[in-house]
Amino acid sequence: MSITAIIFLGAPGAGKGTLAAEVAVATGYEHLSTGDMLREAIKQGTELGRTAELYIKQGNLVPDDTIVAMVVNHLRQGPLPGRYILDGFPRTMRQAELLDSHFQQMQAKLAFVFLLDVSREVLFDRLTGRRVCRKCGAIYHVRNIPPKRADICDACGSELFQRPDDMPEVILKRFDVFTKQTRDLIAFYEQQAILMRVDSSRPKEQVVAEILKIMAAEPRAD
Ligand code: AMP
Repeated sequence: MSITAIIFLGAPGAGKGTLAAEVAVATGYEHLSTGDMLREAIKQGTELGRTAELYIKQGNLVPDDTIVAMVVNHLRQGPLPGRYILDGFPRTMRQAELLDSHFQQMQAKLAFVFLLDVSREVLFDRLTGRRVCRKCGAIYHVRNIPPKRADICDACGSELFQRPDDMPEVILKRFDVFTKQTRDLIAFYEQQAILMRVDSSRPKEQVVAEILKIMAAEPRAD
């Protein structure tokens, strides 16, 4: 297969971004976060960014066709063979079905869907304490991963900020949206026998190690 992808599925705060970044470094897969792509489009002030901002600010999902077009365009333009970690995508059944049909056309393979399982209490704490570097995107937590100097990035010295969608009211909305939308997705990928449940409340080194072990054990992720 010239394109292979794995998916990281998890509630906001389940560690998708952090884990995907580490697995990407360990495997050479490209980390593709739809949230990051949209935030970049907003920063650049593109048409996509202006549309997306209206949805993101309120904790709603960006329309399916817009998201699928953004991801598939990126995959089609990438070098071959392509290996991708899809982080935060697909989020709805329609996205999953559209992805499936694009993958059939492109002869691409979905190797695994990792479901990162964490309780709501842990998630809420992780999200309200999350701080992100404005410049390089490094992720901190006020207690669990504090920067050396308050609100300053260790890596590049820039200011840290709290994402507007990490405010408590918006988080609750995002949880609701996630639960409603992913029930069907989980069933869909379970049926295809590619869903892997991983307990993501453990320290990230353990979670990464388990994911790498699963990927290495299965020839499907080649
Ligand atoms: P994230 O960083 O993955 O939590 O995404 C932040 C926000 O971007 C979400 O709350 C959505 O509004 C939007 N978003 C990211 N990925 C998707 C997607 N696959 N489908 C629809 N909206 C998305």
